[in-house]
Amino acid sequence: MKFDSVIVRFGGEIGIKGEWTRRAYEKLLAKNIKKTLKHHSVLYEKLIHKRGRIYIKTKNVEETACKLTCIFGVSSVSPAIETTSDLNEIVQKTVELADAILENGSSFAVRCHRVGKHPYSSMDVCKEIGKQILAQLKNRKLRVDLKNPQFTVNVEVRDEYAYVFAETLQGVGGFPLGSQPKAICLLSGGIDSAVACWLAMKRGCPIIPVYFDITPFTDEATNAKALDVARKLFEWSIGFPRKVYIVPHGRNLETFVRGSPRKLTCILCKRVMYRVAERIAETEKAEGIITGEAIGEQASQTLHNLRVLNEAATKYPVLRPLLGFNKLETEELAKKIGTFEISTRKTEGCIAAPKKPATKARLEIVKKAEQELDIEGMIEESVREAKIVTV
Ligand code: ATP
Ligand code: MG
Repeated sequence: MKFDSVIVRFGGEIGIKGEWTRRAYEKLLAKNIKKTLKHHSVLYEKLIHKRGRIYIKTKNVEETACKLTCIFGVSSVSPAIETTSDLNEIVQKTVELADAILENGSSFAVRCHRVGKHPYSSMDVCKEIGKQILAQLKNRKLRVDLKNPQFTVNVEVRDEYAYVFAETLQGVGGFPLGSQPKAICLLSGGIDSAVACWLAMKRGCPIIPVYFDITPFTDEATNAKALDVARKLFEWSIGFPRKVYIVPHGRNLETFVRGSPRKLTCILCKRVMYRVAERIAETEKAEGIITGEAIGEQASQTLHNLRVLNEAATKYPVLRPLLGFNKLETEELAKKIGTFEISTRKTEGCIAAPKKPATKARLEIVKKAEQELDIEGMIEESVREAKIVTV
């Protein structure tokens, strides 16, 4: 059976928006879909955008369906056969599909979803198709079971067209990328921050990853890993900029290791990261800073310490999509996103981390440690020396 079309369904959350927002989101999603297909050189003959759906006619059904499941805002897709809304034609195509997919002796149900003006109801369509399948495929010993069928044949009638299909592939859901403003993401190359970035993207924020290079406290492989993770993440944002900031941070870290209480190293390091990220957010007109922190996941991420970290960011919210995640949940998601394998490559990590980091840092003490240093100068220099690369 040769499929010639793909039905694309929009995320349920888009459908419940007010009319104006829904239209804007659907338009944006249609644009993202076209950009993705173009990027992958997937050709199509026709793309029809209706409320809540896009119907794409193409010779590359499998590839199109597969690519579309990874576009934010798409809730599901189905490879389908296009017909006109003429009932005889719908019946003929559905019987052909049933003939191809139903096993001898199996049970089946017909389901119909109909939008538009037609001389028949959805129930008429189901009844007629069921009758014809039983009659035309008599020797196959099929039976109808509406409650618990082994197979379901589906018809979607939409105005002058109809689509016949059997399979529905789950899409990634969320909101179309670009429906929210840009977010700056602190991307380390580790498992967590990559997943946090992806979750922000899933809700519509295009991301600008910022990586802090702590050479000589790490190795070249760690730096390469961060860029590889960024590259993988950008596969989910076809058509959007693939810009990454690389901020030199080794000298800053050295200053903390040498001149501040050792147990505060990670807190001081992270507070400068936040402040530099705020400066980049300003330049990039982003609206928030995303990190991969989760409560209690590391010594620097106890709720006490997160409060001390937060105080460093004064203009932008620090958003932590993984706040309540278990590590295993984060890892599962990283596998689905495709970053897990890259993030778990054996690399040096950070060799400046103290043996006994503070788990209950006190803001006054951290501020006092900062007063002894030229934090403003550090931020200025880091921002000035930051490199922007396109990956
Ligand atoms: P991850 O798994 O994301 O590497 P982690 O669990 O190892 O994080 P930390 O090292 O405390 O924990 O980092 C917490 C968060 O701070 C990271 O999720 C990331 O958002 C940010 N971060 C840490 N190191 C860097 C870095 N070198 N460059 C950019 N962001 C960083
Ligand atoms: Mg972590």
